[in-house]
Amino acid sequence: MTRLSGITPSGRVQLGNYLGAIQRWASQGTAEDLYFVSDLHAMTTTHNPAMLRALTGEQLAVLIAAGISAESVFVQSDLTRELGALSWVLECTCTFGEAARMVQFKEKAKGRDGARLSLLTYPVLMAADILLQGADEIPVGEDQRQHVELARTLAKRFNATYGEVFTVPSAVLPPAGARVRDLADPTRKMSKSTRSTSDTAGVVFVLDEPELVRRKIRRAATDGEPSVAYDPARPGPANLLEILAACTGSTPGEVAEGYGSYGALKEGVAEAVVEMLRPIRLRAGELLDDPAELERVRKAGAARAAERGEHRLRSALRLVGTGH
Ligand code: ATP
Ligand code: MG
Repeated sequence: MTRLSGITPSGRVQLGNYLGAIQRWASQGTAEDLYFVSDLHAMTTTHNPAMLRALTGEQLAVLIAAGISAESVFVQSDLTRELGALSWVLECTCTFGEAARMVQFKEKAKGRDGARLSLLTYPVLMAADILLQGADEIPVGEDQRQHVELARTLAKRFNATYGEVFTVPSAVLPPAGARVRDLADPTRKMSKSTRSTSDTAGVVFVLDEPELVRRKIRRAATDGEPSVAYDPARPGPANLLEILAACTGSTPGEVAEGYGSYGALKEGVAEAVVEMLRPIRLRAGELLDDPAELERVRKAGAARAAERGEHRLRSALRLVGTGH
């Protein structure tokens, strides 16, 4: 059984990405799993090439530093030829209506003349990511479920029309994990791309220096209530308690009992986050300081992923009447 998950380098890796996804990939993943940096997906909206390259390297380094086996990791664009070829085949298997019905496309393209065509076609590229690797389980949140359904539809349609090539994938709900909220505005979720680069006071990045992490957490918004208690209806305090609980493998209610004031709680959260991220920051830093090593890991991952998908791509091309 192969599970496939990607992370898009649309911004720097943040605490929510780690607690909600990467940590679990590292601790519960099996040798069959595949994790990739989906840099091609980061190009569906205006992007900066130098920034994309830097963020891709950073994400690869963080995945490995977090303890995911280098054997399981690759960068999407290292398979641009394979994915480009398969995307075309799948675009020729997909109808315009099916792509245009994607809710995410409708939301993101709404009222925008300059929307890139790739915003419409990227779910087909995502289908190519999944089908090339023969992945059968795709852990995704609600927002990506429809895209996995499309991959499923295309796999079945291709197999029925041309011949059995593709594993039919299923969306699986990832186990409930921490849902980290923005520290400055705890009514929204923490995310790597929705804040402008000059306004990241509420976002803890995995590679932030300890002092910066402490400062961001000390300034986290809490409400005026004096007592430290876990109440999901109070998003600021609840967020801090949930983060601390996730860092310490405890429950928010339990961790609340250890603190008499928000000042003390914030110090506790800051220390727990800094200590949890320290080894990852140091290891990722070493990798980023050693581009040759990072390149070696990246090339090996690319070769493995390309080899894994080669026979499927070749069969698909042959069955549609092209190739050799
Ligand atoms: P973007 O702003 O580009 O959407 P993001 O930070 O939301 O970035 P994604 O690339 O959408 O990150 O998601 C990568 C993984 O991180 C997914 O598994 C997602 O569920 C998880 N994740 C993202 N943000 C959080 C969060 N605040 N709390 C928990 N998990 C999160
Ligand atoms: Mg997101």
